[in-house]
Amino acid sequence: MTNNTQLLNCPFCGTDDVDPTGVLNGDETRSPECMGCGATAPTVATWNCRITAPAEDVRAVVEEPVAWMQFDGEGNNDFTDDHETAERWARNNGPKYADWLTPLYRQPQRPVVLPERKPKTELGIYRLEDEGYNACLDDIDRLSK
Ligand SMILES: [Zn+2]
Repeated sequence: MTNNTQLLNCPFCGTDDVDPTGVLNGDETRSPECMGCGATAPTVATWNCRITAPAEDVRAVVEEPVAWMQFDGEGNNDFTDDHETAERWARNNGPKYADWLTPLYRQPQRPVVLPERKPKTELGIYRLEDEGYNACLDDIDRLSK
């Protein structure tokens, strides 16, 4: 384990107080530990591995509510996806209890980022398990379009 690799801030609590040798592993190697929240990783590379979120939600659909949540005044919520029911609830609530009705929106969809396909072996064929792995990736790719 090398100690001169720059550690990124903790991905959980954000602190830069990360001990690169905070954890003693079973094989006598040491690996990073966050001094803020105690998060650990088996290697520096794993600690520094981050998935970057897409810059924008290319398929976000948030214009219209898809459902409504109605507080009943006694600690419970009712839900409907019927626009007329939501309008009736709003009328019944009146302006005094207008905030009891909450419009709910579709979760913005993020594009799927797939891992790399498994390569062919030196014989120019796919190993059986890699063929299945690649077929799964192809299906995910097809279904996410
Ligand atoms: Zn932390």
